[in-house]
Amino acid sequence: MNPHNGMYIGGAWRPAATGDTIEVVDPVTEEVIAEVPAGTAEDIDAAVRAARAALPGWASTPPAARAAGIAALRDVLAARADTIAATITAELGAPPALARQVHAGLPVTIAGSYAELAAGFAFEERVGNSTVLLEPVGVVAAITPWNYPLHQVVAKVAPALAAGCTVVVKPAENTPLTAQRFAEAVHEAGLPAGVVNVVTGTGPVAGAALAAHDGVDLVSFTGSTAVGRQIGALAGGAVKRVALELGGKSANVILPGADLARAVTTGVARVMFNSGQSCNAWSRMLVHRERYEEAVRLAAGAAAGHPPGEGIGPLVSARQRDRVRGLIEQGIAEGARLVTGGPEAPREKGYYVSPTVFADVTPGMTIAQEEIFGPVVAVLPYEDTEDALRIANDTVYGLAGAVWAADEAEAVAFARRMETGQVDINGGRFNPLAPFGGYKQSGVGRELGEHGLREYLQTKSLQF
Ligand code: ADP
Repeated sequence: MNPHNGMYIGGAWRPAATGDTIEVVDPVTEEVIAEVPAGTAEDIDAAVRAARAALPGWASTPPAARAAGIAALRDVLAARADTIAATITAELGAPPALARQVHAGLPVTIAGSYAELAAGFAFEERVGNSTVLLEPVGVVAAITPWNYPLHQVVAKVAPALAAGCTVVVKPAENTPLTAQRFAEAVHEAGLPAGVVNVVTGTGPVAGAALAAHDGVDLVSFTGSTAVGRQIGALAGGAVKRVALELGGKSANVILPGADLARAVTTGVARVMFNSGQSCNAWSRMLVHRERYEEAVRLAAGAAAGHPPGEGIGPLVSARQRDRVRGLIEQGIAEGARLVTGGPEAPREKGYYVSPTVFADVTPGMTIAQEEIFGPVVAVLPYEDTEDALRIANDTVYGLAGAVWAADEAEAVAFARRMETGQVDINGGRFNPLAPFGGYKQSGVGRELGEHGLREYLQTKSLQF
């Protein structure tokens, strides 16, 4: 890795205000592979000023020209996908195929979708005797997590640019190298100086300074509910717009007539994906009592198809690994039946956790309520459809979910009653244009597609 020893501010790499650094660790080898500067309030201030200075120009750039800028960024991300994927493998531990197809590939799709949306979106509407102008909110603070290091950045920056906003990105401390690759792409795409700025640093220092900065009009945060709560409170106090993408504890509801083998195998795969580090993972599997033991057996078999090392990568850090192991131990202590996996290290080196399946999980257990963010599935039995619905909704979260049934209409009727932002019906595919975001404590606001674009707009009504 060849990290930049500076911050990308105002279209150039500038030395950081202090010499503090953050170590980047390869979760496969457990070795330090790079150091990046740890930004402070001073660096954040410089970046916000650069974004403010660039705002009038970018906001008044015609949408078609903004679309061209985003399309150029998409093309650079596509051209550099191999380098980006290698960086993500190095600092996140994602296996190369996953890194290439999903971590590097998905952001190309998302950037492309916003190039199209910016070009075709109606930034003016007529309502009665009014013309409603949809104008950019202003300077956006994008605070992102490490689980999808590039996607999380692009899912905020691309719609913000489409809307006419300028941005300061504060990426997660575990994956700053990907953010530096992103800044390089912004530069090569030729976006005007200051439209996108990237400041690496820790959450409590750089992140907190950015969220609190007076020059920021909207904070878009993805991460833990604990930090989201703080950012929401801070933004509320300052009357700033805020978008929060937080945790999840999504239910995979397998109704009695469903294709059990497919529902279970897909369900397990969706938890193991990215080593369980997805906020929309279907971490609770709900199965009718009559087919419960069959489902548990199938789940154990499916988990074996994701061996640590070859199948799934490690967790991002020793801290995350220890947290996940602690939750597995807690599941055992609270009386859940460990069917496969467990807290023991499956490999000598690397922050790996064994794919783990728990049966006989009751809704009150910690592993049925807390987001684990690791390769752990909790299988819960239900008595009838009403019971399944009650269990599915019995969580503070509501980000995603799934319903499987023999009859699609039956699955849809169930999905309508779920308190959650997305539901995949009988294995429905991920849609990069569908609004993504949470009910209840999973968050505020939506990302992706046109709904994601509207987050970065504010309205002005002209009466005639
Ligand atoms: P995770 O558990 O996924 O790492 P966090 O919520 O801790 O989630 O981190 C998500 C992002 O929020 C990271 O970029 C992190 O640096 C940042 N962050 C953490 N604490 C704060 C804070 N107090 N204020 C602003 N940003 C923060």
